[in-house]
Amino acid sequence: MISTRVWGTLVRAKLAFILPVLLLLWGSLSWVGWHWHPGRTVPQALLIGLASAVLMAFAEFGHPFAHILSARYAGAPMDELLIADGMPRTLYWNNEVSPNAHRLRALGGLIFNILGLLISAAVFAIVLSYPVVRELAAWSALGHGLLLIMSLFPVPMVDGGTLLKWTLVARGRAPAQADALVRQVDQGIAVTAAILGAFLCVTKMWLPGVILLGISAIVIGVVTGQVR
Ligand SMILES: [Zn+2]
Repeated sequence: MISTRVWGTLVRAKLAFILPVLLLLWGSLSWVGWHWHPGRTVPQALLIGLASAVLMAFAEFGHPFAHILSARYAGAPMDELLIADGMPRTLYWNNEVSPNAHRLRALGGLIFNILGLLISAAVFAIVLSYPVVRELAAWSALGHGLLLIMSLFPVPMVDGGTLLKWTLVARGRAPAQADALVRQVDQGIAVTAAILGAFLCVTKMWLPGVILLGISAIVIGVVTGQVR
């Protein structure tokens, strides 16, 4: 476990988690790049794959660091960022803060990924004569875009859920009422995704169907407290 301080927040990272993730990302992106461009030599494929993996990891791991900044700006600093066991976790010991502070804390990561997505898309659109640069920009955009979509999900523990809950509280609901409403929204999402996923599987559109069924299962897990 590496332990350091970044902008005043304790950051602990488990190399046994980060290194395998990076190696897997590097290997698979190199393979995909080589598969799509068979003319590429193995060192070229590995080098471009490495750059792609670094950009995607930046989208993933930059997100929690942006929360450190937005939490400081909100006057409710993050106490610890723990990067281990499956995903980065942003830990706050003091959660008795205003609805606005909750929302500002949650906004940092989203703003980071929106900016990353816009910059990557701009590079992709402008740099027409350098295909490798465009390829890297596309991976970067994919990394930021995927994380943005996942972060916007209105489930508890995810930024979208935090934003929804504390926006409801800011508009006069009690926190418990807001939690109940978020749960209702999640139940709606789970049922809709399950019906749509089952329909897509029946019509043999397997990939989107299975993804939707997976989303439904995860949301049901979160609502019932099985997934934390
Ligand atoms: Zn986040």
